[in-house]
Parts: sequence; structure tokens; C-alpha cells
Amino acid sequence: MYDYLIVGAGLFGAVFAREAANAGKSCLVIDKRSHIAGNIYTEDVAGIPVHRYGAHIFHTNNKTVWDYVNRYAEFNRYTNSPVANYKGELYNLPFNMNTFNKMWGVITPAEAEAKISEQRAAHYTAEPKNLEEQAINLVGVDIYEKLIKGYTEKQWGRPCTELPAFIIQRLPVRLTFDNNYFNALYQGIPTKGYTALVAALLDGIEVRTDTDYLADKAALDALAQKVIYTGPIDAYFDYKLGALQYRSVRFETETLDCPNYQGNAVINYTDAETPYTRIIEHKHFVFGSTEPGTQTVISREYSAEWQPGDEPYYPVNDAANGALYARYKALADAESRVVFGGRLGEYKYYDMDKVIESALACAEKELH
Ligand code: FAD
Ligand code: UDP
Repeated sequence: MYDYLIVGAGLFGAVFAREAANAGKSCLVIDKRSHIAGNIYTEDVAGIPVHRYGAHIFHTNNKTVWDYVNRYAEFNRYTNSPVANYKGELYNLPFNMNTFNKMWGVITPAEAEAKISEQRAAHYTAEPKNLEEQAINLVGVDIYEKLIKGYTEKQWGRPCTELPAFIIQRLPVRLTFDNNYFNALYQGIPTKGYTALVAALLDGIEVRTDTDYLADKAALDALAQKVIYTGPIDAYFDYKLGALQYRSVRFETETLDCPNYQGNAVINYTDAETPYTRIIEHKHFVFGSTEPGTQTVISREYSAEWQPGDEPYYPVNDAANGALYARYKALADAESRVVFGGRLGEYKYYDMDKVIESALACAEKELH
């Protein structure tokens, strides 16, 4: 009999398992996939850690979380600085002085501000009701047309006029020459990949992969006092209230006989015609330009509407899904032996640092 059966060897499950083991509890971690690390899984291809489920950049303002991950892996000083390709024109992201200089030839922050104000004034909406109106208010029509509209409509599969304004509020707009995409104090990538980080968290803890909890629930439940469940909350209840929706992403990954394909880890294709949203070149996350090698691995990302059976990626945080989740949450709260956690268990768009915060808080509550 284990103290805890932990369903899911992703970041939430691994952090909880580590804390429980440190507190002297016995744990069994299972995952239905054939590998540990959940969506942050990286696998070695041609000597390069490839992010199989999408590019992951660790960034946080929480020093406790940063110190925590650095105990289990060495991180490099990677700074995310994506480049936008609009029909062959290249622009720095997030929107900053480099972007404004390329777009309009402006040299000083005052000139950039004047240009944005002039563009805004022509199309200003006092109370923006959708993403298009919000974006034009923020950066004007030129940037909206070249760097936002096509990308956003490909990513979300709907027109910007039908998308909520808040999506775009995440993007920084800076009057400095700073191409750092994130406003975070700490940022980096594990030098040996994320799988090594999760393996270090799970060191000494029993793990069974290729084990689907829901396919053998009664037998697995009988093995432990309590269950930490990090799979989809609706699947746990056999979708009895209906399925929660997600956006999905399809990755087309290729190994190329070329040392350096695009010169940057992330290039966004912001026009409407290119079918993918971005190309990731994995080696630049870890090697920068120091270790070119002879091969490289790239992934094209295609955004897709999620269908049952697809890999669920982004929760759709609209009112209908929020209401359905609240009903599942009420059922979950009534399960006394089971704690629901992580991005699928809580149906929440969590960055990695937030998942760690949440798993540590859960462990604190459970174990102390
Ligand atoms: P998961 O990693 O999904 O782990 C859950 C595990 O449970 C899975 O391994 C699954 O196989 C297993 N499971 C499910 N059902 C069962 C079952 N019935 N039986 C057994 N096992 C089961 N965050 C950042 O901070 N920076 C980024 O740059 C970033 N980029 C992202 C890019 C993409 C495309 C996506 C989708 C997310 C990104 N994130 C990023 C978020 C990050 O992926 C999550 O915060 C993190 O992976 C969540 O960990 P988790 O343990 O909650 O979930
Ligand atoms: N976005 C955009 N152009 C870009 C990059 C982002 O218009 O080149 C918009 C788009 O609407 C996207 C939002 O900004 O949904 C948030 O982008 P981010 O890259 O932060 O989203 P993520 O894919 O990391 O969730």
C-alpha cells in the first residue's frame, strides 16, 4: 500500500511526488504515455533536446520557484527573443523600438510614440470590444495588419473581431530596444532538457509509464491511501456533464542536414497565407551559436480546433467552458480520496512556474 498514487508524471505530479517522498511518504507515479515529463518532455534527436509538445521557456518572477528548479537542473541564460516574418520582412518582437524602427523608420522613443499616436487617432475606439479594436488602440493599424491579425486568426481559428480583447494585453509594448519577450526576473532552459529535470525530481520514486489510470481505476485505487490526479477532470468523470474544449496544436518536426536553419529559436509567420504559425529551431534553445553541429531539428506549428482523441493543449477559457468546469469542480470537491491538480486537473492555462507553485501549495496542504 502506497501513501499516494500520483496520476501523471508531468511537472505537477513530479513536484508533488518529490515533496511527498521528502516528507517520508511512499509514492507510485503512473503515466499513460510511454515517457515521463508530460508536456515538457524533451527527447534527444541528433544530440539536440527537442521539445516534443511545443517550445517551453522557463520564466518566472518567483525566486522560490527559480531556486527550486535550479536545485534539480542546471539552467542556461536563454532569453526568448522571437522574430516575426511577414512576407519576408523581419521584425523583432515583442513590439519595441527595433520593431518601430523597421516598420516606420523612426529613431527615437518620442518619434515612435508620435507615430503610434497618429495611427491610433485615425482608428481609436473608446471602449474596445474585441481583439482588433484593442490591438489598434495599443499599436496602431500597421502593426496590427502585419504582425497581429494573420498570426492571431491562425492561432485561434476565428476573426480578430470575434476574439476577446484581453488576449493581446499579454504582449509587451516597449519604447526601448529590448527584444526580451518576457517581463520576468528569471528565465532559462535546462541545459540537459526538461526530461532530465523531471527525472531528477522523480529520483528514487517508483514510476510506471504506459499505465492508464482510468482503464484500470479500481485496481490502481486499491494500491494507495490517496490519489493525486493530474489528468483531464472531465475524463475522470467519464465526460458525464459533457467535454471541456481545448485548442490543439499539430507539430511537423524535421531533422535537416544544415547547421543553422533560421538563426533563432522562434520565428513567427504573421501573414495569413503561411499555414503554420511559427517555426521552432530547437538547438537555439540550448546551444545559442556556440555549438552549431552539422544537423538541426525544426518544428512547424499548426494550430487546430481540438477534437476528442487529440492532445489537449490550451483550455478555452470562455464563459461556457468556465461554467462547465465549475460543475466538474463541484464533483471533484466531493471526492474525498482524490486531489485534482495541474493544467488538466484544474482546466487552467498554467505556465510552468505556476504549476510548480500550485504543486508546492498542494503538497504543503497535504503533507504538513
Ligand atoms: P501535463 O504535463 O499535461 O501532465 C499531465 C500528465 O498526466 C501527462 O503526462 C498525461 O499523459 C498524464 N495523464 C493524463 N491522463 C492520464 C491517465 N488517465 N492515466 C495516466 N496518466 C494520465 N509554460 C511555460 O512556463 N513556458 C512556456 O514556454 C510554455 N509553453 C507552452 C507551449 C505549449 C504548446 C503548451 C501547450 C503549454 C506551454 N506551457 C508553457 C505550459 C506547460 O506545458 C504546463 O505548465 C505544464 O506542462 C503543465 O504540467 P502538468 O503536470 O499540469 O500537465
Ligand atoms: N501575437 C501576435 N503576433 C505574434 C505573437 C503573438 O499577434 O507574433 C498575439 C496572438 O494574439 C497571441 C497573443 O499575442 O494569441 C499571445 O501570444 P503568446 O506568444 O504570448 O502566446 P502563447 O502562444 O505563448 O500562448
